[in-house]
Amino acid sequence: MKNNLYIIGNWKMNKNPTETREFMKEFNKLYEENKNKINSNIFYGIAAPATNLAMLKITSNDCLVVAQNVNENESGSHTGEISINMVKSVGAGAVILGHSERRKMYNETSQKVSQKAQKVIEAGLIPIIAFGETFEEYKMGKTKEVIKKMIKESTKGVNLLQVILAYEPVWAIGTGKTPSLKEIQKICAYIRSITNPNVIIQYGGSVKPKNIGKLMNQKDINGALVGGASLDPKIFIKLLTLNK
Ligand code: PEP
Repeated sequence: MKNNLYIIGNWKMNKNPTETREFMKEFNKLYEENKNKINSNIFYGIAAPATNLAMLKITSNDCLVVAQNVNENESGSHTGEISINMVKSVGAGAVILGHSERRKMYNETSQKVSQKAQKVIEAGLIPIIAFGETFEEYKMGKTKEVIKKMIKESTKGVNLLQVILAYEPVWAIGTGKTPSLKEIQKICAYIRSITNPNVIIQYGGSVKPKNIGKLMNQKDINGALVGGASLDPKIFIKLLTLNK
C-alpha cells in the first residue's frame, strides 16, 4: 500500500459551532458505517473557522483540528488576530498558511508565511503551506518557475519534514477546473525534486469524489486539501473512502 494520505477539508468562512456539531454528528455515524472502505493509511482533518475549533475537537474522534490562519506574534496589540497558542489551546494540531485567498485578499506574503511557519513548528503544530500558479502563469508555462519561488520563500528557515506542502493551482480552486492528472503528478514530482524526497505533498483544487481516487493514486501525491466538497458530511466521507 502507498504511504499515508492526508485529506484535509477547508471550510473557509462557513459554518458556526452548532452547524459544526451537526456536521460531526452525521459524519461520525457515516465514518462508522463506512469504516471498512477507509484504508488504514488515510488520515483526515478539518480546517474550520477559529470559533468552531473547540467544538470540532470535542465532537470528533480522529479528526485533525486545523486552523485557517494565525498571527506570528505571541500576544499583544493585534486587534482581530489570533495567536498560535490560542488555536492550540482549543485543540488545533495544524494551521493552513498562505492559502491563495489569504495571499490575494489579505496580502499574506511568502515572507510572512515562512515567519508564521517557523513559529507554528516551534509551538508543536504542523504548518500546511499552500502555493500555486494563476491561470495566466499556467498558460504562459511558468508554473514551475512560480511555485519554486513561492516554496523557497515560504519555507525559508523551515524543516521540510515538519510541514505539509499543498500545491493548489489558483485557477482550480472552487472552479471545477483542474490541470490534467498527468500535469498534477508532474508538478508534484517536481516539488519533491526541489524540496525533500520525503516531504508530504497535497494537491488542492476542485477535488471531488469523482476525481479523488485517481489523484490519490499518483506517485507523488500524499493527500488533498479540499474546499467545497468538505462541507457536506456525505460528500466528505466519499473522499475518505476514495469514492468506494
Ligand atoms: C481550497 O479552498 O483550498 C480548495 C481547494 O477549494 P475547492 O476544493 O473548493 O476547489
